[in-house]
Amino acid sequence: MTEPSPADVRIDTSRPHPARVYDWYLGGKDNYPVDEALGRQITEMEPTAPYGARHNRWFMQRATRMLAGRLGIRQFLDIGTGIPTEPNLHRIAQTANPDATVVYVDNDPIVLAHAAALLRGTPEGVTRYLQADARDPGRIVALAREILDLDRPVALSLIALLHFVPDEEGAYEIVRTLVDALPSGSHLVLSQLASDFDPERTREAVAMYKAGGVSLVPRTRTEMAKFFEGTDLLSPGIVWLPDWHPELGVDEVRDGTPVPLYAGVGRKP
Ligand code: SAH
Repeated sequence: MTEPSPADVRIDTSRPHPARVYDWYLGGKDNYPVDEALGRQITEMEPTAPYGARHNRWFMQRATRMLAGRLGIRQFLDIGTGIPTEPNLHRIAQTANPDATVVYVDNDPIVLAHAAALLRGTPEGVTRYLQADARDPGRIVALAREILDLDRPVALSLIALLHFVPDEEGAYEIVRTLVDALPSGSHLVLSQLASDFDPERTREAVAMYKAGGVSLVPRTRTEMAKFFEGTDLLSPGIVWLPDWHPELGVDEVRDGTPVPLYAGVGRKP
């Protein structure tokens, strides 16, 4: 298996990339003027966008605390990982279970370039990074199988990923293929931009991303629920992202602003 190394990375700075625009919302330094321009344009229209991005990270943290801490999951497959932001998923998982194995996957070369920060885990645990596209879930399963024991439960997270995958590029089939490859007791963790929160502004955001060459696909609650078919949703079901187990939050600074993202976790029976 030949994996590209960070030295091979070519960064396209001529158009915005989702991982880098998200990094800009989060106040990171791994973004370029094209990414900042789109981030600013969105934020002028929707001033709470950076707050929503922070909330999305907090959801990842709370869900991982639930899965690793309360439910004892020791294997994680996180697709659409993004540019590293402390604490990363493996830090939380391995704080609860030092021997946890975490496999990260992203298709953006900027994430590969920063993957070293994703690989500093516990000595007892395993962290790996795979450069792969979610639209090729069969390849992801084949690669992940070399690292994860697919006879033991896996927490599969697609956090703020699926709103970059249109239905016609296989969003639902991707989730189905991945979940089918995992054993009973595995969990599916999703967050996704809502289309039924503020439809007018969401349409504007879609148009702005489209002008930058990025497909943004907000979905309704019903469309979100379809991703969880074949799993049992953990309480409280699909909710606005800040409302998913807020009691698991650590160091969150909330001001009550609504966040137009759905979140949920389902368990494969
Ligand atoms: N999951 C992280 C990052 C979300 S940003 C978090 O919630 O904090 C969305 C990420 O998905 C970006 O890093 C982007 O590069 C990645 N992504 C988008 N389309 C993808 C695809 N087809 N395959 C793999 N990764 C993808």
